[in-house]
Amino acid sequence: MKPAQFDYLAPDSLDEAVAVLAERGPESRVLAGGQSLLIELRYRTSRPALLVDLNRVPGLSEIVLSDNSVHLGALVRHAQLERAPFDDPLADLFRQVAPYVGHPPIRARGTFAGSLAWAHPAAEWCALAMATGAEIELRGPAGRRAVPADAWFRGAFATACGPDELVTGVRLPRPPAGSRVAFAEHRRTHASFALAAAMVVLRLTGGRVGWVRIGLVNAADVPLRAVEAERVLTGELPSPELLAEAAARAAAEADPADEPHAPAAYRRHALGVLVRRCLARAVGDGTHDPAGDS
Ligand SMILES: Cc1cc2nc3c(=O)[nH]c(=O)nc-3n(C[C@H](O)[C@H](O)[C@H](O)COP(=O)(O)OP(=O)(O)OC[C@H]3O[C@@H](n4cnc5c(N)ncnc54)[C@H](O)[C@@H]3O)c2cc1C
Repeated sequence: MKPAQFDYLAPDSLDEAVAVLAERGPESRVLAGGQSLLIELRYRTSRPALLVDLNRVPGLSEIVLSDNSVHLGALVRHAQLERAPFDDPLADLFRQVAPYVGHPPIRARGTFAGSLAWAHPAAEWCALAMATGAEIELRGPAGRRAVPADAWFRGAFATACGPDELVTGVRLPRPPAGSRVAFAEHRRTHASFALAAAMVVLRLTGGRVGWVRIGLVNAADVPLRAVEAERVLTGELPSPELLAEAAARAAAEADPADEPHAPAAYRRHALGVLVRRCLARAVGDGTHDPAGDS
């Protein structure tokens, strides 16, 4: 099917984009990488009267590092994160996760911020934003505001972004130095969305879990941070039994739906296995739990 007719505008500045959305926001859609929006247009599940293309707005493709955070402009592509140009645990996590986001042509165009704006329950970046405590930065007619990830996701394909607002960037706190990261995903084919996936960012202090964040992908209609599992781990020695208990807690925190190829119980089990696998990798060789790989 071809898209329904729409007007198209490619502003040269953010001010211009904001002004257009102030006037025609409710009938408009912002276009970033187009890797999700164009499919909606083609199937006519979305019929906006106007597309506001951000791709000519300068300065939105930059990755800016500061001591405590990393700032991704609204047009930072998945592929830029696949070869993140800095070295710290967050960059490691970007590099581990990015190859699972679609396939190379999608990663060349699709954007990190667009993924958060689209809010697909199986989107890896949405869970990464939750796990790391990202803030989504917006501009609209009322000015600027920043929304923490845990207030951003309102449901499947629903966010806190107003119809007259646009995402200008995302700020992600850098995990504590020395943190280790791990990501694991279960999907049907190489190009499929995740049936389930998990990520762990963890720092050991004196052999104990000093700090940990666990993100779950496609575990509910919104991305989840497994806070109960984090609580079980914090301050403890990472024995195989502890990792298994934390993984079971994480699976219990999930609320997956039945999918055609994977009933909810199967996906909950998979989440537990993936969390245990990530934890074993993050704590290192000494406590690797072979049972976590089954
Ligand atoms: C075959 C295929 C496989 C895929 N596999 C995966 C996968 O495994 N994992 C995954 O996470 N994703 C996957 N995707 C989706 C892909 O990651 C998209 O790139 C991403 O979800 C949306 O980013 P985008 O920049 O392309 O946004 P667009 O398609 O341009 O926009 C998507 C939505 O977000 C809104 N939006 C975008 N940017 C902004 C902004 N700055 N401000 C306000 N609203 C904005 C748009 O209005 C639209 O509603 C896949 C896509 C395809 C086609």
